[in-house]
Amino acid sequence: MRDEAERAVETLLSHIGEDLKRPGLERTPRRFVGALEELTRGLREDPPEIVFFPVEKSGPVIVEDIRAVSLCEHHLLPIFLSISVAYLPGSEAPGLSKVIRLVKWAAARLIMQERFTEWLADILLEKLRARAVAVKVCGVHTCSYIRGVKEEHHLMITEARRGEIDVKLRCRRPVCT
Ligand SMILES: [Zn+2]
Repeated sequence: MRDEAERAVETLLSHIGEDLKRPGLERTPRRFVGALEELTRGLREDPPEIVFFPVEKSGPVIVEDIRAVSLCEHHLLPIFLSISVAYLPGSEAPGLSKVIRLVKWAAARLIMQERFTEWLADILLEKLRARAVAVKVCGVHTCSYIRGVKEEHHLMITEARRGEIDVKLRCRRPVCT
């Protein structure tokens, strides 16, 4: 299966006019398949197990600026993301590092940002056993930099909420461009 994937990359390289015999490309198909696997590991791995701690009563918890890289499902090009989440814990609160790992797991796949944001809100509500959640996703879509739109500093911002949660999430620029 992996061999076939590497051969498919060779086909793509030939298609764009590359010389497969030149030394610089010797390990490129293998590296590309490896990078693609890493960028989409969320498709094959189970979501991280969440550890919970009892809490008496808690206001909103905000985790800002979780960095992740997804692939756009239309062009298979990277989307650099800064994701901020807020949640109102139930009777138990999730550990911080697990929240971050869950967001990074969710992002590791092909996405359309609008749909991804809604789905992430659902996942967080369920997996964090939260009473309410808010999600803000800020994305730099490399496909829109390369194709057509030459607006150099655009950032796509999407938000989703589940339940009542009174927070204002900020947006960070995920890469310096
Ligand atoms: Zn795209």
